[in-house]
Amino acid sequence: MIYLDNAATTKPRQDVLDTFLKVNESLYFNPNSPHKAGIQAEQLLQQSKDQIKELFKLEKDFDIVFTSGATESNNIAIKGIAYKKRAFANVIITSVLEHPSVLEVVRSLENEGFDIKYVNVTKDGQIDLEHLKSLMSDKVALVTCMQVNNIMGQIQPIEAVAKIVHQYPKAHLHVDAVQAIGKIALDFKSADTMSLSGHKFHGLKGQGLLFVRNLHQIEPIVHGGGQEYGLRSGTVNLPIDIAIVKALKVAVKESAQLYEKLSEFNQEIIQFLNEYSGVKVNSPSGASPHILNVGFPGVKGEVLVNAFSKYDIMLSTTSACSSKKASLNEVLLAMDIPKTQIEGSIRISMGANTTTDDIRNFKEKFNLVYEEVKELLK
Ligand code: PMP
Repeated sequence: MIYLDNAATTKPRQDVLDTFLKVNESLYFNPNSPHKAGIQAEQLLQQSKDQIKELFKLEKDFDIVFTSGATESNNIAIKGIAYKKRAFANVIITSVLEHPSVLEVVRSLENEGFDIKYVNVTKDGQIDLEHLKSLMSDKVALVTCMQVNNIMGQIQPIEAVAKIVHQYPKAHLHVDAVQAIGKIALDFKSADTMSLSGHKFHGLKGQGLLFVRNLHQIEPIVHGGGQEYGLRSGTVNLPIDIAIVKALKVAVKESAQLYEKLSEFNQEIIQFLNEYSGVKVNSPSGASPHILNVGFPGVKGEVLVNAFSKYDIMLSTTSACSSKKASLNEVLLAMDIPKTQIEGSIRISMGANTTTDDIRNFKEKFNLVYEEVKELLK
């Protein structure tokens, strides 16, 4: 099987699985317990947070909250900040590029009376910084902007966004960096909060992180025993938390090397596809190399995914979270991609396990799929 759906999820590393199992066997204690074993668990929890801070050289005012994934991290940050600031600022700025775990949260806040504004998107999938400037005011509580898009791979200029946002002292910048970690350098310095999900960088499903600058900026949305600085109550899952740190260390250590490898594969695939008439690369240049979105105008994306799947090539249409929805993908629409090209788009996404052989195999099978659909191409 050739797995080219790494933006949906990645294979867990064996040493991450081993760590998870080992900590479960030997350190299953509750870090909140007052006895010696509980204290040992609490110390390990703190150490793993310190290791993350050290890994990124995070400034002192940052803290780490362990969560179950980026969906939870995005919910805790976006709702928590909105509620905290609602008395004096009720505008939230986002864009249609965001993942549903951001967009659906802001939609639910809209129902609660928050004023949601969407920044325009340029043809190459960047948020329009001039438009962002024009939307900013003292009423803005939060701007939420992803670092790398999960469907097209384009990278947002987080530093430039932060410069605009931070001219307004009440405004907070939340960054969903799920698709950036391990692929490009994380811009956590510009962010006030940042979300990550373990299973996107060869960790496990059900483990996530939220980096928080100034914990008091967030009102808790999960109430209970007060764990994780009161922001994520519930018994701490030490094995899963220690395992994500393991995955994170490797992802950061290997990211420059991986970038090189995936850039080569990305260019190789683009050059190969350019030889096929009717096939269009949708991802803009300068996108993160692990995501390549390709359009086949006239053919349905689902037909292509099934055709590749028949040859044991696993890839997806848009994203795993939205591929079952019938509507046209909003990210591609915002980038002015023609309707037929959107309907016929597939996403090829690579990861640390992608090999030269996988790319060769993909190209071979691509020929077969192309033969099947070429009559339909417009
Ligand atoms: N943000 C982005 C950009 C993503 O790609 C994903 C996963 N598809 C998420 C958030 C949500 O992550 P999870 O499903 O692990 O909670």
